[in-house]
Amino acid sequence: MTDFTVPDSVTPIVAWRYWRLGGADGLLRSLTGRHQRWEPGQALRARCRFDDVDRTDWRYRMVSGFSVDPHPAPAEGCTCGLYAARSLGALRGQMLFGLNRMVVGQVSLWGKVIPGQHGYRAEFAYPDRLCVFEGVINRDPGVLDALSAYAVPVEIVGNRQGVFSPVLALTRAIRSIVR
Ligand SMILES: [Zn+2]
Repeated sequence: MTDFTVPDSVTPIVAWRYWRLGGADGLLRSLTGRHQRWEPGQALRARCRFDDVDRTDWRYRMVSGFSVDPHPAPAEGCTCGLYAARSLGALRGQMLFGLNRMVVGQVSLWGKVIPGQHGYRAEFAYPDRLCVFEGVINRDPGVLDALSAYAVPVEIVGNRQGVFSPVLALTRAIRSIVR
């Protein structure tokens, strides 16, 4: 439970993001960043995406956002940090990799948070509310058990047979949350 304290004077920012469910344990994974696992009951802390590379390798100098000096994440002038979208609309603008084992939800961000055009890059993050698609639960009922480990509300988002519209389903889910 280290690092899982929110300073009293700082209200976490709540933003939106996607996760995918890990195959074996059903826990949340990032879609990028080597599918990093989000541990239940433990804040995820950002690491610079370039921490594990050989910074003297000249080829990295051509990578967008690369910074030669090691630094805590997120940093201005780099692209590191835990990403989340400012709104569901902004999140929808991102590419969906297929809805199989996809989770969408809200995430609390705190520590150092760098705002961007559509969202944020944060130092610390933890899920705040999760929405799982009905089809995912139907295929694997154990998913709800796995997600209960995060001790946050989990909503089941219905998907209509045949024509499944993720946007429509999400809009409905969001309405039920906002109410
Ligand atoms: Zn960085």
